[in-house]
Amino acid sequence: MSHDSAPASDSATPAPSSAATPARVFRAEKGTLYVLATPLGNLRDITLRALDILGSADHILAEDTRVSAKLLAHYGIKAPLRALHEHNERKSVASVIELLQQNHSIALISDAGTPAISDPGARLVAAVREAAHPVVPIPGPCALIAAISAAGLNAEHFYFVGFLPTPAKARRVQLEKLSETLRALNAALVLYEAPHRIRHTLSDLAQAFQEPRDLIIARELTKTFETIQRIPLAEAVAWLDAHPDTERGELVLIVDTPAAEQQNTAPRDTSADDAILNRWLPALLEELPPARAARVAALATGLPRGVIYDRIKVRQM
Ligand code: SAM
Repeated sequence: MSHDSAPASDSATPAPSSAATPARVFRAEKGTLYVLATPLGNLRDITLRALDILGSADHILAEDTRVSAKLLAHYGIKAPLRALHEHNERKSVASVIELLQQNHSIALISDAGTPAISDPGARLVAAVREAAHPVVPIPGPCALIAAISAAGLNAEHFYFVGFLPTPAKARRVQLEKLSETLRALNAALVLYEAPHRIRHTLSDLAQAFQEPRDLIIARELTKTFETIQRIPLAEAVAWLDAHPDTERGELVLIVDTPAAEQQNTAPRDTSADDAILNRWLPALLEELPPARAARVAALATGLPRGVIYDRIKVRQM
């Protein structure tokens, strides 16, 4: 993940005008760690306070120094850059705390967005707080917040899980648990995903959520080819076939409840479902654990898995 590779020529990121660069108002305080959000792609998405702190910090800790060097060069900032990434975070903690003890000011940034959100930083922050040094957030861009803000969520709440596990089985097991939790919370699910895994993830999501759900794909946020698309989750894989560009670029996935007017609010005649469940559930439960039995019965009847699961629990009481 990175800032747009050629920011100066990206129409979404006009070159800065020196007349528009305001005087510095804040200075980085000695012995303080700043956790500072940087743009997701459009280099103009940086706060004035973030520029003040980056311009006055003694050190900047960056996930990938080459990526952050472009941002800093864009704003004419020359503070020394040191690498802090997932592979050296643990062993860098002691040296960062030593710098703070020597009254240096330090800004922590990631390649894009907010540090410690599916990015390194949490471990360092915990250690710095433990060592009683001030930790100051400098808020700004974050992909999940940008996606949610423009998605028009129907669900009352949202539940952010970051990246799902990569192994297919672990991913499916987690999604199965999540679908139950989200149903109980009336929450939308928000995920980060790599573009090369999106096809598998969409098909696993459609399997995990048997009841009607919408999928929002928020892609290339703040960049030239930004798209935010809402589609029925059940049609997501077919939609991807028709929009192969989606398998490139960065994306946030949101599983939301459909708009109220699209949900079938007419009371459903459940007598036929009852008959099927009464006949098949005992047999399924002979052969399968409850969660799998509920899944098979949901596929067969079209009933929400949660409803069937509740029925199984009642049977087992
Ligand atoms: N810390 C970052 C934040 O605050 O959003 C997230 C870092 S995580 C390693 C990278 C993931 O964030 C990407 O795989 C993608 O899911 C999401 N992401 C980052 N930039 C994005 C963008 N411009 N548009 C859509 N999603 C983005």
